[in-house]
Amino acid sequence: MSVVPPRQAAVLSIANFCEVCSKDDKALADALIDLLRAFAIENGVDPGHIRKMGSDTLLLRLDQLPREEFLDRIRQMAINAQELTVPGTPDVALKVRVGAISERAMRSFVNDAAQSLLAYMNHVDCPTAFLTGDELDIWQSLESVGVDFLSHEQLKYMDIFTGLITEQRFMSLLDEVLNSAEQYDKKMSVLYFDIDDFKSYNRSFDQAKGDELLLFVAHLIRDNFPTDVVAHLSVDRYAVLTNSTDLARRCAVVHEKTKAYSKTFAPEVKCGIFHFEDEVRSPFVALDCAKMACESIKGRYDKTFRLFDDELREQLFTRRYVARHAENAVDEHWIRAYAQPVIDTSTNEICGFEALARWDDPHRGILSPAVFIPTLEEAHLIHKVDAFMVDEVCRHLSERMQEGLPVYAASVNLSRLDFELCDIYQQVVQSCERWSVPHELLAVEVTESALDGTSNLRREMERFRAAGFEVWMDDFGCGYSSLNLLKDYDFDVLKVDMEFLRDMEGNERSKTIVKSVLAMAKSLGIRTLVEGVETQTQRDFLRDAGADMMQGYLFGRPRPLEEGLV
Ligand code: C2E
Ligand code: CA
Ligand code: CA
Repeated sequence: MSVVPPRQAAVLSIANFCEVCSKDDKALADALIDLLRAFAIENGVDPGHIRKMGSDTLLLRLDQLPREEFLDRIRQMAINAQELTVPGTPDVALKVRVGAISERAMRSFVNDAAQSLLAYMNHVDCPTAFLTGDELDIWQSLESVGVDFLSHEQLKYMDIFTGLITEQRFMSLLDEVLNSAEQYDKKMSVLYFDIDDFKSYNRSFDQAKGDELLLFVAHLIRDNFPTDVVAHLSVDRYAVLTNSTDLARRCAVVHEKTKAYSKTFAPEVKCGIFHFEDEVRSPFVALDCAKMACESIKGRYDKTFRLFDDELREQLFTRRYVARHAENAVDEHWIRAYAQPVIDTSTNEICGFEALARWDDPHRGILSPAVFIPTLEEAHLIHKVDAFMVDEVCRHLSERMQEGLPVYAASVNLSRLDFELCDIYQQVVQSCERWSVPHELLAVEVTESALDGTSNLRREMERFRAAGFEVWMDDFGCGYSSLNLLKDYDFDVLKVDMEFLRDMEGNERSKTIVKSVLAMAKSLGIRTLVEGVETQTQRDFLRDAGADMMQGYLFGRPRPLEEGLV
């Protein structure tokens, strides 16, 4: 049952539930929640407006009341709740929390607000609190009922969801430590924790379960760094400032316990560590270095933490360079179009090419897209590059047509952001018009990340197809929902990710998977292109397995577009 977000709501929760009711005493657990429900009804809540949120919590929808009356009603409920005792054991009191949530606090989602409020009440061990919009309001409301346990400053710096400190507070503490001479301690480190693929966890279960995991990890990190500064940075990211030396062991504990938290999903918490260095005095740089170390081991099952080392330092320099020069690169055409041939399996002849971007830097030589594409995406400049690449391809095709040379169809890569940052369809159409290139000669490649959730992309893709362009799905198989996308979208070509070929030789299972993917695409009427073909053996296998097209170093590396394909 989904409750329509009410304009006013309250949470009722038994804070000492675990103490008074053992895990397997189902009968008592039911009796407790029934008691809570009866209490709500006695206090005037409509029985149809009560929803169970967890084993010990109810969410109540209340009738709209003027603010003061609403707060009075909650206060009265909190007073009445002091009488509640455990059924069958009348001398054991129940610690009931009553939290009030009003309209302004519920802009996003009532469950979130309720969970935050409960976490907050548990943290400060307070029977009642009011979430009426922002932290200041909570504080004022608490003060107005004479509750006084946290200073305004403390409250401002506390993340009410986890009870940890906020990112803002963490950064200012870090700044203090890095910049006060006597406190500067070389043995200090900044740790950055991140839950791998938390989005999928949320999707596999639900938001409430996701929140439980976030809280579990928050408390786990705090418990493992009991004397250190621990912060909740954002959804699934946490940071620690510590001078302890057995970091590897502590990270391993956090990792293992989180993995064991859900047997079916086995969530992975990764940690990046930055040891203080003399030259780093900016808290942002310190945290960034830890973050970078953490991100470098995302998705790797063999690593649970990584130090910020020389290799990462070098990467950081390049990234910074790229970020600083992103606009120059776009405006001054340091970005150039390269092309890699695509082979038709049945004829063994070139049948097309993929346009790939290169950054030809006046000082640093050729930079690979792996380095600059993510930075250009971050800087919201990627659409300019993609539009430029399309135009370059059209210009090239038009020149060849005019010179009477053979012309091959081309595919270009589009970023997810192109669809947000500009009307990329219009840009492609304009380039075709400018250079008189028929639409049939162009295909756009999109990856599955472009398709996650945004519904207008389906419309965008249909626009391309309706105008005679082909739409190809790139990197098929490297994400988790590729198969679903085939169900929901029409693609002309499936580009099978080169990862599939990596360990294919001698691995029967990989071969079976590739064969099935190719057969499945065929039965759906989708053509196939396998990327990353490097050896004769791979090529022979793929031909027998029915791949329609191939691309890879075996047939040709990407070369400057103007130099032609062979
Ligand atoms: P992608 O679209 O999957 O492109 C294929 C990548 O595989 C290219 O890397 C290509 O050089 C490489 N490759 C081709 N054959 C082989 C092979 O036999 N073995 C191996 N090991 N690699 C091979 P590249 O050019 O470094 O591009 C990397 C990624 O950057 C591309 O992956 C694409 O996602 C992105 N990219 C490149 N150009 C553009 C662009 O103009 N716009 C956008 N948005 N993304 C681009
Ligand atoms: Ca591609
Ligand atoms: Ca690809």
